[in-house]
This record gives sequence, structure tokens and C-alpha cells, in this order.
Amino acid sequence: MSSDGHTADGRAGAAVWRGVGAAAGVAFGPALVIRGSVDELPAELAAAGDVEAEIARLLQAVARTREQLMALREEVRARVSGNEAAIFDSHLQVLADAQFTGRIRDTVRTQGSSAEFAVRSVADQLSRKLASLTDEYLRERAVDVHDVARRIIRNLLGIPDMVPRELDRPCVIVADALTPSETVLLPRDRVLGFVMDRGSATSHTALLARALEIPAVVGLHNFSSEVRTGDAVLLDGARGIVVLRPSKPDLDAFHRVAAVRRRVETDLQQLRHLPAVTPDGRVIELHANIENNTEFAAVLEHGAAGIGLYRTEYLWLTRGRAASEAEQIEVYVSAARAMAPRPVIIRVLDLGGDKFMGAAGGEYREANPFLGVRSIRYLLRHPEVFRAQLRAILHASAVGDVRVMYPMISDVSELKQANELLRTCQRELAAEGVACNARIPVGAMIEIPSAALTADVLAEQVDFFCIGTNDLIQYTLAVDRVNDNVIHLYQPTHPSVLRLIQLTIDAAHRRGIWVGVCGEMAADPMLAMLLLGMGIDELSMSPSAVPAVKDVIRKTPLAEARAMAKTALAAGTAGEVQQLCRDFIRQRAPELLDLV
Ligand code: PEP
Ligand code: MG
Repeated sequence: MSSDGHTADGRAGAAVWRGVGAAAGVAFGPALVIRGSVDELPAELAAAGDVEAEIARLLQAVARTREQLMALREEVRARVSGNEAAIFDSHLQVLADAQFTGRIRDTVRTQGSSAEFAVRSVADQLSRKLASLTDEYLRERAVDVHDVARRIIRNLLGIPDMVPRELDRPCVIVADALTPSETVLLPRDRVLGFVMDRGSATSHTALLARALEIPAVVGLHNFSSEVRTGDAVLLDGARGIVVLRPSKPDLDAFHRVAAVRRRVETDLQQLRHLPAVTPDGRVIELHANIENNTEFAAVLEHGAAGIGLYRTEYLWLTRGRAASEAEQIEVYVSAARAMAPRPVIIRVLDLGGDKFMGAAGGEYREANPFLGVRSIRYLLRHPEVFRAQLRAILHASAVGDVRVMYPMISDVSELKQANELLRTCQRELAAEGVACNARIPVGAMIEIPSAALTADVLAEQVDFFCIGTNDLIQYTLAVDRVNDNVIHLYQPTHPSVLRLIQLTIDAAHRRGIWVGVCGEMAADPMLAMLLLGMGIDELSMSPSAVPAVKDVIRKTPLAEARAMAKTALAAGTAGEVQQLCRDFIRQRAPELLDLV
């Protein structure tokens, strides 16, 4: 397959688009186009005709919206989980708020606006106001207000729910943008793949797609307007490539990769209960990255030995608001129980950057959010949020091997402050008579060059390190990880990145602590070999990536991986390292070459 940017490549019929790979895997099937963003309304809709008739229309649409939301809540509770159903509780609260609906009515009456315009304008005003409040809970209503406003407007315009609940045949969903509440409604077993105009690899839909193991490509700008329902679409989620109306050679390549994948996956099934150990006896802990509690079965089925990264921000993103301490206790305790005696590494909130919500990060209005109040910086500024999360994690530490991990550490002072708060929470819980692990293992993510360069200092404060290569690459190379204009500069094998990783591993080992990688580098069998040779102790990745990585580990003597890593570290360019890794895997596990 070839690609040449966002536009068609000129071949008759077929068109190749390049976006951001959001969830690995290949898919081919007919498109189902879901377009229906009502964020921009046509100007001719601005004024109401008869004001009283307009208000009656509005009330009808609000009533219809309420009925839909209640039905959706029940449907999602039954089909998905109570966790996801909570999104609709928040939406119903917005709708029940007299301030919201009352103001829409007043706007129609006093300004003669159409109901659609009144909804849009009140939603904009209200969410702006909410986003600027100090109260955490209220601020987070901003996202819900927008979601509910969209639904009311669609009801006013008679645009049916964009998202089908049933599909008579499997298809590739092509959309301009889907909200969280829309995404959870899709019939998962019939969705072959996702293609979206907006979004990034770490956008909410991308996270969901990865959790569901549905191949996805996002950030395709205006792709959905070029596709009609029924058009053949081929997508490669690992490479971020979409082919519209693919040619015969494209399809042949697709079928070849799909067949190899099926065969390799069947073979790899047999590794499920085997350890990830090299022929010369080096054991690597292979863990899984998850975003919610629906993924335990996948973790175990794919043979992971535990959870190496629980991205808890997902609990906030699905709700569109903060998860309370009680809600978090429920989630973490059930994770610990489901996985016991296996480890569960719970990463504290990593909101901000591109993972905005009504509150967290949104309130700061920063020009460079990835360099702003993200993650641990947000938590240290909002100790009440941090405290609730640490307390919930500590609750869970009483029932399983739960560990806590701090993201985006750039300086030792952050680690010290976080640990201080952790100790305060432990004292509080002890005073309350709540059992928890007084020696809960604590880890720091190494994902900023300053952290890698001072890893020896940081190692004194923690029990383990986990290298977040997704961010480490972005911050080392000054390449925005979600900006597809510079995606060619995002190079995991860049010598600077490898040197920082090696520094971190060596510093950790000198201080006697273990070190893992939980960024996407860990999921690529070629790069996993390199990391093995560099001395990594643990690798954590999406559950479906575990079998192939286990396979190469079991086929590669540590001594050979070490020799390869030594040569790689002496190389001058990312390309040379890439080639070295490719040659290495060609010798060790050629069947995996089509997958990487
Ligand atoms: C990373 O940065 O590599 C990482 C694992 O964290 P996230 O992708 O959630 O930022
Ligand atoms: Mg990160």
C-alpha cells in the first residue's frame, strides 16, 4: 500500500488517505457513513417564525430527548456496563436543570431566535461559564451540556439518531466526529473498523477502539465527505492508512496480511499459559495496558501476566465528569479482585495535553497544552482530586497486588509531593480503620527527557520506573504525537530516544529497582527485542499485542538481543536502527514481519 498525504493519490478509482493510526489491525468492508455534526447551523435557521409555535417545538424536542436518554441509559447498562451508562445520568441531569431549558425558552421568547439557535447559544454560554467555575463538579458539566444540546438540536431538525444500534452486515464506520455517548452505542460485534475525520491516537474514540480491538484510523480531515455508504474501504490501523475503493493489488496485500495475522494468532494462542522467557532463561514480565474494567477477559485471554498500565483518565472521560472517590473504589477494587494475584498498576490521572474534559486542563486555556498543566501537574494543583484518587487506590491495595504510578514526572520535587500526599492518605485511612497496603509499590513514569536524565535521583523515591515512550519520543524530538503534519519525524528508534531509555534502565538497575516500558514501543515485536537487549524488565501493551511479543521473546536468546542493542545504540540514525531491528526479526521470527 502507498500513501501520499490526505488526498487521493490519483489512481483510477482507488484513493489512499493517511491519518493517524489509532488502533492496530486491518479491516475491509463497506462503509457506513455517519455524518451529522450539528455544531454549525445554517444561518437561515436563525430566526423563529411564530414564537409560541417555536416554544412548543422546543418542548417537544426536550421531552423526546429525555425519553431517548432514559432508553439509552437502560440499553447501555444492559449491553455494555453501568460504568458507561453513567454518561446518560449526567445528560439527564443537564436536561432536568431548569437553568438550561428555561434559558433556552427565554432566548426564543426575548430574542425571537429559532429553537435550534437558542439551544446552541445557551449551550455555548453555559458551558463557557461552567468551564470557568472553581467547583470541579460543575465545571465538568460543560461537556455534557454540549452533548445534550446536540441531541436536542437533532430532534428539532428531525435528524434521527446518527448511530445505528443494529447493523444488518458488518461494516466500517466512517464519521466526521462521534461523541463518547454515541460511540458506546455502536453494535460492537458488527463494526469492522473506525475511520474518523477528527480525533487523534489518544482521543476518546481511539482509546475505545483499542480497548475493543477494532482497527481505527483518525484525524483524516474531510474523508467522510468523500465517501458514500456502501463504498469499499480498506484500513490499516497500525500504519494509519485508509484506502477508499481499493484496487486489486491493495486487496491482495490486505488478504495476505489478514491471512498471516490469522495464522500467527492461532499459533500464538498456544503461548497463552507459557511465560515470556528467552531460550537462555531471562524472564520478562509481559503486562497489559487497559482503560476500563471491561478488558480483564482480553488481558487473560491474550496471556498477559497482569496490568502494567491502567489509564484511569478514561473513568473521567466516559463520564464527562470527575469520578467520585466511591466510584473509583468500586472500579479499582473490582480490578484488583479480578486480576488477583496478578499485579495491577494504576496510573493516576493523566488529563490535559489532548485529553481534555470540561475541567481538567480546559480551564487553563493554554497555547501548548502538552507543555502545560497536564497530568501530575494538574493533580498537584488540585490536591482534592489527587487525594480522592490515592485514597481509592489504597482501598484497593487491601485486596490485591495494587501499585500506584505517577505520570509526567519532570522533577524530583513532584515525586516527593506526591509521595507525601500518599502517606497522608495512608494515615487518614488507618485512622478511619480502613485496611490498605502500607508498603504499596510506587512507580514513576519516565516520559520527559529531564526525568530520564535525572533517573538516578528519581530512583531514590520510587520502587519502579515505567518508561512512557509515547511521550518520551514527543518531548525528546519536539514532535507533537497527535499532529499528523509531523508524523514522519516521530521516530521511536531515534538515537536520542534510545540513549535516554538506556540511561533510565541503567540508573534504575544501579539503584536496584525494576524498569518497564508501557508506551507503544513495547507492543512492536521488533522494538521489544531491542528493549530486551537494552535490559528492560517489563513490557506493557494493549492486550492483543501480547502474544506476538511473547513469541519473539521466547525465540530470542538474551545474549543475541544484547549484541543487537549494542550495535543499535552506536548507530547514528533512526533508519539504521530500524533496519537492524528488521533484519534481526527476519532471522528470529519472519512470520511476524507482516505484522510490524
Ligand atoms: C506514554 O506516554 O508512553 C504512555 C504510556 O502514556 P500515554 O500514552 O497514556 O500518554
Ligand atoms: Mg504518557
